[in-house]
Amino acid sequence: MALFRFTRKTDRGAQRTACLADAMGPPAIADQTWLFVSPHDDDVCIGAGLFMQAAMQEGVNVEVLIVTDGCMGYCQLEDRDQIVEIRHREAYRSYQVLGIPRDRVRYIGYPDGGLIPLIGRRRARADEESIAGYVGLQNALTYHLRTIRPARVYVPTRTDLHPDHRITHSELMISVFHAAGAIWPELGEPLAEPPRVGELAVYCDFEDLPNLEIIGDDAAFQAKLDSILAFQSQVQIDRLVESVRHAGPYEYVRESEFRLFTPDTYKLLFASYAAGNGNGNGPGDS
Ligand SMILES: [Zn+2]
Repeated sequence: MALFRFTRKTDRGAQRTACLADAMGPPAIADQTWLFVSPHDDDVCIGAGLFMQAAMQEGVNVEVLIVTDGCMGYCQLEDRDQIVEIRHREAYRSYQVLGIPRDRVRYIGYPDGGLIPLIGRRRARADEESIAGYVGLQNALTYHLRTIRPARVYVPTRTDLHPDHRITHSELMISVFHAAGAIWPELGEPLAEPPRVGELAVYCDFEDLPNLEIIGDDAAFQAKLDSILAFQSQVQIDRLVESVRHAGPYEYVRESEFRLFTPDTYKLLFASYAAGNGNGNGPGDS
């Protein structure tokens, strides 16, 4: 059994523990389903290879949803026509190394580098593959959220430079609300409540400080490195693995808080502005 250390910072302070369930607080995580949404097949191995192992070790059912098909990921011309099949084989192998079986790795399979026309949702043309007659990221993500029904969802941070990462992040955030709403009933039974969402660091820093640190032992770290190394069609993979190895067995998660608008947030603030501004009657009243 691999050993981990977790430090999670909350409003009440920071807590270091060897137990992920303790770090996450209630409700209990054993038997929960957590969904890791990966813009490209290798992203969540890089950003959460330790975290996913730790979660499974404590009884979490980890599911992976890969958004793109890897078609632009060829590094040698002779791979170009088979790269999608090659990357699929590599991805299943990679997640197996982490302990995630093939039937828990799903694909949306939209074209790598070609997500812009697939933002949103529209009716499918006669010749298009569809889910319930529609295409688009919000259609697919809402469908998968309602099918997998995760308690928590993790996705690479929107500060990553790759447009596939940025688009996946923003389409997932709105789809979390769609999935818990009544719209589009053909995509499945609405979720009782939106899943909690956390961001993963893959290539770029978070926009704000993360609140969970995961440190893995040698065995867990080696499994993470091996899972990245499974993407052998990527000729730069050895260099990437070397840099991940050099960085050490550390991962970070930033749990997102959706702050829905309510006037209450601002009423007190503006009351305090006015109180600090003489009679509070507005500009020029000093
Ligand atoms: Zn990526």
